[in-house]
Amino acid sequence: MNLRDFFIALSENRALNAGAQKFGLRLGAQSVVAGTTIPEVITTIKRLNAKGIACTVDNLGEFVHDEAEALAAKNNILAVIETIHAEELNAHISLKPTQLGLSFDLELCYNNLYDIVKTAHDYGIFINFDTETYETLHQSFELMERLHKEFDNVGTVIQAYFYEALENAERFKDYRLRLVKGAYKESASLAYQTKEDIDKNYIKLIEYHLLNGKFTSIATHDHNIIAHVKRFVKEHNIPHDAFEFQMLYGFRSEMQYELAAEGFNFCTYLPFGADWYGYFMRRLAERPQNLELVVKQVFDKKTTALIGVGLGAFALGRLTKRAKK
Ligand SMILES: Cc1cc2nc3c(=O)[nH]c(=O)nc-3n(C[C@H](O)[C@H](O)[C@H](O)COP(=O)(O)OP(=O)(O)OC[C@H]3O[C@@H](n4cnc5c(N)ncnc54)[C@H](O)[C@@H]3O)c2cc1C
Repeated sequence: MNLRDFFIALSENRALNAGAQKFGLRLGAQSVVAGTTIPEVITTIKRLNAKGIACTVDNLGEFVHDEAEALAAKNNILAVIETIHAEELNAHISLKPTQLGLSFDLELCYNNLYDIVKTAHDYGIFINFDTETYETLHQSFELMERLHKEFDNVGTVIQAYFYEALENAERFKDYRLRLVKGAYKESASLAYQTKEDIDKNYIKLIEYHLLNGKFTSIATHDHNIIAHVKRFVKEHNIPHDAFEFQMLYGFRSEMQYELAAEGFNFCTYLPFGADWYGYFMRRLAERPQNLELVVKQVFDKKTTALIGVGLGAFALGRLTKRAKK
């Protein structure tokens, strides 16, 4: 088990997620999470919009297991949409179908998504279906396809680590797509495991959708990939309005401003909400240096305690498993 697996395991720990919510957003995550309330995230959107940067807003939520939680998530997302519309902000929505009931009631999830997509459609606001683990990938794609029959303001994410990624990009070439490397732990039977293989597939995906697809969001902090995209669009005369770069809030902020100032469309992914812990741990999993970059700024005893409890629980789990074997 490496550090990446360790942080992904922490992100999936329900008790730690619940514990973190009680502490509030004071544990080092505030540099990558844009607040816990709608007014807080709106302030950040306005600040970024003033710099020529668009935003995609993610109302964080993990472990949604009943109808009431799914309805609460839907209502929060609807409230964000209403505010984006009322305040004429340059922003759209990123959501996770599991937040709206996908893992326990597919029709409930569809109905929740329908209300969100329809309201957003009336206001001309785009809805992105973030992709999670492989377990829910195809159900999520199917829900999006059902909605796309009626509404054109939906799109999704293709994760380059999957062997089937290019096939999925071909299937959804008529959709606005966000292309990413992939954030979750997937088995070698489904996904490339090395950075080199993932990067190669990522470039193939980007080139494919830029040449054949609808609008492309290239979501990466990788300067080598960004440099490649800049060369590629120039060589192929791909207009700037056919694509955008995206990065997560709080990561490589200077580069975000520079890309926008260079005349590229730029969109910052803005997560907000009390349920920040799983998101934060996945960011540490992607790049353990983030632990230094992020936590160093505001490292406090509670963060140490939370990660420490996680380490303890993890070690205990391993020992128990070994004892059972
Ligand atoms: C906007 C956005 C939306 C996303 N949506 C999804 C989704 O729906 N589903 C999903 O599975 N994943 C999603 N992801 C996460 C994504 O899959 C990757 O896990 C994540 O972006 C890390 O990969 P990377 O492309 O940024 O580059 P990496 O491979 O992590 O980094 C490549 C290189 O870039 C440099 N670098 C990276 N980060 C930094 C930094 N902070 N500071 C300095 N240098 C750095 C380093 O040199 C590093 O070696 C999203 C990512 C973004 C940006």
